[in-house]
Amino acid sequence: MQRNFGITNSPVLKKQEKSLEIVRDNLEEGVMGEAENGGVIKIDVSIEEGSAEEAEVVFHENKHQEEMNATNADGEPLLYYDDNKVIDNIANITYTRKDGNLINDKTGETFEEGHKKLPHEIRAWAAGEKGKSAFSKKNVKLKNK
Ligand SMILES: [Zn+2]
Repeated sequence: MQRNFGITNSPVLKKQEKSLEIVRDNLEEGVMGEAENGGVIKIDVSIEEGSAEEAEVVFHENKHQEEMNATNADGEPLLYYDDNKVIDNIANITYTRKDGNLINDKTGETFEEGHKKLPHEIRAWAAGEKGKSAFSKKNVKLKNK
């Protein structure tokens, strides 16, 4: 099922509102949301529509999306994803993607994709928390279009 949202009253999301598309999908177990290159955010079908949890996932994934769309002074995306690599140009870390893991190219440290200790995930979780609390205080509305 496909559904588009208009997300109002959020300075973070306002400028992207037109290009942000939110799609419900049956995602892999344990995965609540996915940000795809090209402005699509996928949300797992288990998450209730209009809930604070949904707001959290949207803001979390939107943070990834924002970083993928923004560039630094060298013209590189702040966050880059492809099938083999993840490059975090904010924390200056390059990872190799393998079997659902991200391996730090410098240190060899391995984390599961989406692990809360990864710097780009820390940033996204912080954005998700902010979105959730703003939603709970009714400063943010998720509405059907
Ligand atoms: Zn994430």
